[in-house]
Amino acid sequence: MPNTDVPNVETQQHAIVVIGAGPAGAIAAALLKRRGHDVLIIERQRFPRFSIGESLLSHCLDFVEEAGMLEAVQAAGFQLKNGAAFACGERYSAFDFGHTSSQGRPTTFQVQRAQFDQVLADQAAAQGVTVRYEEEIVAAAFSEQPHAQPQATLQVRRADGQVYSIQARFVLDASGYGRVLPRLLDLEAPSQFPVRRAVFTHVEDRIDHPTFDRNKILVSVHPEHRDIWFWTIPFSNGRCSQGVVAADHHFEGKLGDLDACLKGFIQQTPHLRDVLANAVWDTPARTIGGYAANVKTLHGPGFALLGNAAEFLDPVFSSGVTIAMRSASMAAAVLHRQLQGEPVDWQAEFATPLKKGVDAFRAYVEGWYSGDFQDVVFYPNAQPDVRAMICSILAGYAWDTRNPFVNEPQRRLRALAELCQGASA
Ligand SMILES: Cc1cc2nc3c(=O)[nH]c(=O)nc-3n(C[C@H](O)[C@H](O)[C@H](O)COP(=O)(O)OP(=O)(O)OC[C@H]3O[C@@H](n4cnc5c(N)ncnc54)[C@H](O)[C@@H]3O)c2cc1C
Repeated sequence: MPNTDVPNVETQQHAIVVIGAGPAGAIAAALLKRRGHDVLIIERQRFPRFSIGESLLSHCLDFVEEAGMLEAVQAAGFQLKNGAAFACGERYSAFDFGHTSSQGRPTTFQVQRAQFDQVLADQAAAQGVTVRYEEEIVAAAFSEQPHAQPQATLQVRRADGQVYSIQARFVLDASGYGRVLPRLLDLEAPSQFPVRRAVFTHVEDRIDHPTFDRNKILVSVHPEHRDIWFWTIPFSNGRCSQGVVAADHHFEGKLGDLDACLKGFIQQTPHLRDVLANAVWDTPARTIGGYAANVKTLHGPGFALLGNAAEFLDPVFSSGVTIAMRSASMAAAVLHRQLQGEPVDWQAEFATPLKKGVDAFRAYVEGWYSGDFQDVVFYPNAQPDVRAMICSILAGYAWDTRNPFVNEPQRRLRALAELCQGASA
């Protein structure tokens, strides 16, 4: 259960403050607590709360396990996921996470994030992390002295409007789209991706379509516009998450009625229209746009940025939670050594290796929207070993440098796409 101690002094001291109790924050906090550190999470919302990002990759369970939370996640009754299926017109291609070159976990989960994030945060609290809900970080100052203790002074606003201070040796910003330190410290940088938008909802799906596999996310491509795609993420309770993603201009004049907008795109896409023929649309659609984000640096004296607080690419390969947890695990390891008094190099040990996998995902996201990666995904005669390497990335193993499609993503993808395009011509 969450630890809800009430602060009673004006300035408090904590070794580590984590901003945000989403996946990045809960995993980082638990990993540091397990190594014996004093960790406080400040979370501005009350849990459970809605969040988007419901289809997990295999690799993210490695961090859930590292943080001692796998049993609780397995016991929560989420929908099993064993791969990803892609549909475009008559073409259909399914990747099975049991067949990856990385030989990772064959299954993962599709989760209602309200419940999943609550499980993780409660698990962190059960391991001794203090979690304060409905409190918001509103200001942050960091000492320029590299060895100053404390390095950070944070201002926290409680639900009743009162503000108090916390001094900390280190701050991990896991505030997601809140992007607390990038905003407060002027670290934001433009994303290289065009502005895209998602419109989505949850439905009672009643799917009885013969090709539909509840154990996979279904990614459907619009028949006319290859840059418009849909996710269908089944849950274990007969419902699914349904969304459409497209560049902003495709939504012009349509955002006044989000339900009609989403249904309209689905009606234009025969395969998906058939899959969802019996769905009960009982929940108002929502929208989020301009979510791609970047920063000038992932770390500074007294802080590091985790998950979406740092960078967000695109939802197409469901990589967000995996990147968030991977960054949490890597940062926790470096910070532990720093707090033990060891010399650490945040750039060489955290930012650069983290970026390696993020850049691999980036290459495949760019390839998805250019059409190259779609040609690879739908190519019917792929070599099984090449397909296993692609499947590894789809399962989240984008840091597995034994995989040539991780080491040289752009070059390998271009060469493979040319092969597929040549063979299909
Ligand atoms: C349309 C769309 C679809 C997506 N689909 C997927 C998917 O299928 N699979 C996937 O893995 N990812 C997906 N993602 C990405 C996913 O949503 C994020 O990558 C993931 O939630 C990031 O986790 P996080 O812990 O970094 O941040 P979050 O989960 O956003 O958690 C951040 C927490 O910080 C808190 N916070 C914010 N500001 C403050 C503050 N000032 N003080 C205190 N607390 C604060 C917030 O309340 C929140 O609880 C999708 C994203 C989009 C936009």
